[in-house]
Amino acid sequence: MTKKIAVLGGDGIGPDIVAEAIKVLNCLRDDYGFQFETEEALAGGIAYDKEGHPLPESTIKVCKAADAILLGAVGGPQYDALPRELRPESGLLGLRGTFELFANLRPAILYSELASASSLKPELVAGLDVMIVRELTGGIYFEQPKGSGKNKDGLREGFNTMRYNEQEVERIARVAFEIAQKRNKKLCSVDKANVLDVSQLWRDVVIEVSKDFPDVELSHMYVDNAAMQLVARPKQFDVIVTGNMFGDILSDIAAMLTGSIGMLPSASLASTGKGMYEPVHGSAPDIAGKGIANPLATILSVSMMLRYTFNEGELADRIEKAVGKVLANGKRSADIARQGEATIGTKAMGDAVVEALRS
Ligand code: NAD
Repeated sequence: MTKKIAVLGGDGIGPDIVAEAIKVLNCLRDDYGFQFETEEALAGGIAYDKEGHPLPESTIKVCKAADAILLGAVGGPQYDALPRELRPESGLLGLRGTFELFANLRPAILYSELASASSLKPELVAGLDVMIVRELTGGIYFEQPKGSGKNKDGLREGFNTMRYNEQEVERIARVAFEIAQKRNKKLCSVDKANVLDVSQLWRDVVIEVSKDFPDVELSHMYVDNAAMQLVARPKQFDVIVTGNMFGDILSDIAAMLTGSIGMLPSASLASTGKGMYEPVHGSAPDIAGKGIANPLATILSVSMMLRYTFNEGELADRIEKAVGKVLANGKRSADIARQGEATIGTKAMGDAVVEALRS
């Protein structure tokens, strides 16, 4: 059956990097018979400019009809003064909420060729391959009560609520165990169960779910230790599962271990298998329109789409190998080049991946 992909280029470098990812998909169709169709829609600042809202109804309709959503990036300084609900980033949150994309997968992979780009010693990070599974639609960023005001003593205060119910924990834990099963079968659940009641429930439920995955080795770590371990011995981890706020912070630490934000893909999945796939980075307004953005994070997001929504693991492997080959051949965009190294632009990098896929 033909797969349907909604394509949201977004703002800044978004449309350019997405165009290179589509080139890769076209190559998979021509050379490997992957049947798909795309439909473009507006999201983010450009949607606000043209339709008055960062996530117009027309875009929701296109995304609803699709099996997967490919997003470039949204945002830009020209939208910073807008009310929060009209800012480009609200469009992104709207997509996550509308489609209940509760599982955020962020792999941090460091290709050996790029080990010198990391702020850590190459021997600590060369060959790093960690998958962080973050709960994305619950926890302290969403739960009520939240707000700010004055307390009974007249002092200003602000508050949020960290709350998870057992179903929310169970569904994210299952996603993480299933991913661990397909990798090195090690799962580390990160919480703060020594202090937080919500974390104790998290831990209890993860242990219960683990009974269904006897082949996966489960460990637990407090979040403060996990932050330390990620920079001390990052290669000890295979898959990490954690709540929304802890995952937000830990996945950014893991991202920096790899040195370049231009290399990192992500997936946000619903329980139906529908997913939104996007690079971790933003719209990079400082380089927009210059033709120098690195499209590899977006191309690797397509690889995640093939793996997690379309169950085309073999094609996903092909893309990842092609990216590896391009790097091994010394092709570098400006963000991953060492000083003095020759660089290529966005289009040339996309072409190089297509060429590597074909050879
Ligand atoms: P950013 O990720 O856009 O850029 C940070 C730095 O990394 C910049 O110097 C940029 O040039 C560089 N960079 C990013 N992607 C690159 C690529 N593919 N190739 C080469 N260099 C790259 O983060 P920012 O500057 O903090 O944010 C810019 C805008 O993007 C803001 O409006 C922000 O809200 C938005 N944003 C959107 C998303 C998203 O769409 N998911 C994520 C983060 C930030």
